[in-house]
Amino acid sequence: MSSKGKKHVLQWHILHRCNLHCTHCYQDEHSSELPFSELERLLRQYMAFCDNYRFRGHINITGGEPLLSQSLFPLLSLLEKNGITFGLLTNGTLIDKSVSDELSRFSRLSFVQVSIDGTRETHDSIRGKGNFDKAFAGLHLLKKAGIQTMAAFTCHKRNYKELPDVIKLVRRHGIDRFWADRLIPFGGNTEDILTDEQFRETLRVLTKEHYRKPLFSRTDVHLNRSLQFLEGGDCYYWCGAGTTLLTSLRTGRCYHAAACRYQ
Ligand code: SF4
Repeated sequence: MSSKGKKHVLQWHILHRCNLHCTHCYQDEHSSELPFSELERLLRQYMAFCDNYRFRGHINITGGEPLLSQSLFPLLSLLEKNGITFGLLTNGTLIDKSVSDELSRFSRLSFVQVSIDGTRETHDSIRGKGNFDKAFAGLHLLKKAGIQTMAAFTCHKRNYKELPDVIKLVRRHGIDRFWADRLIPFGGNTEDILTDEQFRETLRVLTKEHYRKPLFSRTDVHLNRSLQFLEGGDCYYWCGAGTTLLTSLRTGRCYHAAACRYQ
């Protein structure tokens, strides 16, 4: 299969440190950051990989909390200089006006994603008191700065019933895109994982909300994955991990997985 011009996404955890301690977090290591020269070296490796396979690389920068990294803005400048598009995945709590202004200067920044885990009470019970309001305040600053905003909802047993309410909230706040996926623990506690039926229910809500377009709303409720799960028949959901998607941890260690399916 030729990959010529095909998009390849790298999810790059540039540090593991975070200012929050969410109950479902899989980051269990809080070691120091790599020096900028190492990040630069890893970036060169990724660019060489994309050149080699003729991929169009895109990098989603995350952590931990990427806004804690001293290297974040120099790294984004390097991506910009090399013409690589990128997104930023953050908990949103450290976004102030100077951060949103600085981010708005990057023409290659495709979007900033902020995690929203439920209504205020649920979000704060998972992410700590006051962090729901901080996350939405961050999203509003990004919007004001003209940056594409995305709210990401991780569904698990404690919050999946709130999905319609969260979509309503995200619409009310005028966020550009809403994206949801289920919690898949990286080891550790598996009690919160949705059952197959709960996951199907979640996908049905997403599908319904995607097609329901309230007049006042411009939020795109992202759907592709749920359509493929619900309507794919024998064509199972195909995961890009290991082919067009790669995750790199702080150390440069990469994770990928074989194509998986959901029944
Ligand atoms: S914001 Fe993300 S990295 Fe930080 S504790 Fe929460 S889930 Fe973990």
